[in-house]
Amino acid sequence: MKDETFLLKCPSFVSDPFLMKKKKNQNYTCVHAGELKDTVYGGATAPIYTSTTYDYRGPGTNLYPRYFNTPNQVALAQKMAALEHTESALIFGSGMAAISAVFMAFLKNGDHIILQRALYGGTAHFAAAEFDRVGITYTMIEHINEETLKDSLQENTRMVYIETPSNPLLEITDIEMVSAFAKANSLTTAIDNTFASPINQNPADFGIDLIIHSATKYLGGHSDICAGTVSGSQKHMELLWNTAKNYGGSLSDVTVHLLERSIKTLGLRVKQQSKTALKLANFLARHPDLEKVNYPGLKSHPQHKIAKKQMHAYGGMMSFELKKHVDHDDFLEELKVIKPALSLAGVESTILSPTQTSHSLLTPEERAEQGITDRLLRFSVGIEELNILIDDIEQALEKSRKR
Ligand SMILES: *Cc1c(COP(=O)(O)O)cnc(C)c1O
Repeated sequence: MKDETFLLKCPSFVSDPFLMKKKKNQNYTCVHAGELKDTVYGGATAPIYTSTTYDYRGPGTNLYPRYFNTPNQVALAQKMAALEHTESALIFGSGMAAISAVFMAFLKNGDHIILQRALYGGTAHFAAAEFDRVGITYTMIEHINEETLKDSLQENTRMVYIETPSNPLLEITDIEMVSAFAKANSLTTAIDNTFASPINQNPADFGIDLIIHSATKYLGGHSDICAGTVSGSQKHMELLWNTAKNYGGSLSDVTVHLLERSIKTLGLRVKQQSKTALKLANFLARHPDLEKVNYPGLKSHPQHKIAKKQMHAYGGMMSFELKKHVDHDDFLEELKVIKPALSLAGVESTILSPTQTSHSLLTPEERAEQGITDRLLRFSVGIEELNILIDDIEQALEKSRKR
C-alpha cells in the first residue's frame, strides 16, 4: 500500500532574496511579497481558491487545505517568510496552533526545554498542561541571561523559547545572546514575536530558528481574525510541516485571504502605532497620576539598550500603574475612546487590567512575584491621533481621582 505521505511534500519555496533585505522596503513587502496574480481577469487583488479538492491529473494534485499547500496559503506564507527574512513559512489557524505545533514537532518524550517565565498565558498553560503527559520537562527562567541559561541547561535540553517584548511588563530579552548560547549548545530556538510584529523586530537576523506570531494581533490588526504563523528556514519548516499536518491546525483559505489583505497595511499601521506609543509613553512617564510606565522605548526602561539593538521601533504596547489616589475601576469606566478589551494590537486603542483578566488565575503572591500589581494596566495603542488618546486619558483621570 502506498503511504499518502510519499506523494506529499511541504510546500516548498525560497522567499525572494530581494525581499529578505534587512528592514528595507517593508511596505512594498507587505503589499507585494507572495502576490498571487489574477491571470484570468487581471484583477488587482489575489483570487481566492476555496477548493478542498483538485484534479489529481492536473497541476493541483495533492493540494488540500490541511496540508498548508493551497495557492492562497502558500502565497501568504511567502509574504510571512519575506517579512521575517526567512526562506519559508506556514500559516496556522491560531497563534496557539502555531506554538503547539512548534513544541510537538521539535520536542519528544525525554526532552527538556528552557522557557522564559513571562510568557503569553496560553503558552504557559500549554507547558503546564501538556508537557508532562508526553514526557517533556521544562525549566522556566525569570530573567534570561547567559548565567541563568547555563544553570538551566541539561544534557537533554533541546530548545530555548522566548517572548520579547513580554506581556504585560514589556521586559526585553537579548535575542542575540540567546541565539549565540543556543548555537553553542546545539539547541533549537523559537521566539514569540507577536508584540513586536515583523515591522519592529526580525529575530532571524540574529539567528533565531523559528519565528512565531499570533496573527490575531498585529498581522490581523483589526480585531476580527484568529490566526498564527511560523517563519524559518526551509529545513526547519519541513520538520514543522511533518508534524503540523498531523495536528491539522491550518487556516481556512477565506481567512487566509482576509489576513493577506490586512498585512498589506501592517507597515503603515505598526509604524504609526509605534510613533504614537513612544510619544504617549514619554507623556505618561511624566504624569503626576501615573507611575512605572513600562515601554522599551523609554530611556528609563531597564533593557532600553537591548531593545535599541534588536528592535527597529518599540511597538504599540505599553503598561503603567495608576497612583493610589486614582480609582482604578472608575478610570476604566470613564474612558470614552479607549476600549477596555481582552485582546490587543487592533487599529483601535484598548486597555485591560491583567489582574482582572489575563493573569486572574494566578494568586496575588504569584502576580507580585512577577511584578504585576492590581494597579497595572496594559495599553494597546491604536492608530488614533495622539491628542485624542491624551485627552481621553486626562478626562478619565480627572473624574477618577479620589477626594
Ligand atoms: C494572543 C497571543 C498568543 C496566542 O494567539 P491566539 O491567536 O490567541 O492563539 C500567543 N502569544 C502572544 C504574545 C499573544 O499575544
